[in-house]
Amino acid sequence: MKQKLLFHTCCGICFLSYLDFIKDYQTTIFFYNPNIHPEEEYQKRLEAVKKIAEEFKFDFVEGKYNKEDWFVAVKGLEKEPENGKRCNVCFEIRLQETVKFAKENGFTHFSTTLNLSPYKDINFINELSKKLAEENNLQYLEFNFPKQERFELLNKAKKLAQPLDLYHQKYCGCLYSI
Ligand code: SF4
Repeated sequence: MKQKLLFHTCCGICFLSYLDFIKDYQTTIFFYNPNIHPEEEYQKRLEAVKKIAEEFKFDFVEGKYNKEDWFVAVKGLEKEPENGKRCNVCFEIRLQETVKFAKENGFTHFSTTLNLSPYKDINFINELSKKLAEENNLQYLEFNFPKQERFELLNKAKKLAQPLDLYHQKYCGCLYSI
């Protein structure tokens, strides 16, 4: 029997980049992104991920869109640059919720598309994920692709997504990154 993997996903195309690496798992896509602003943008990204789940036959779960809590958590960090302290809080919020859901729902493993972005501190994301995994008795499926490979994986995923006519965002997600 395959092990159960909860895959936190912020973007449909990013998720497609991992297809070759998760074949041995029974994977559920977890869309938990209260950072995304405005709500119309949230809906567009949500629909794109749902479409991928349907097309590629993955289970899908939408987490809460508790955007008010997100704004409270990043208060005082509004002017931080992208990849600064606000992003670290944003990663932590989403990874903590992923771990909580994984633990409460019998998953053995979790991972996240956050570690694919060529513009983010993936060492921070991976170290935090490993710490959360250890604290919660879960396994973190770690990806640590070199930057160039992350671009290549994303380009490959974009080609794969072409027939689906998927929405692809133009900014990271929050109000401050628009
Ligand atoms: S720039 Fe992206 S990662 Fe950073 S806080 Fe905004 S949505 Fe989160």
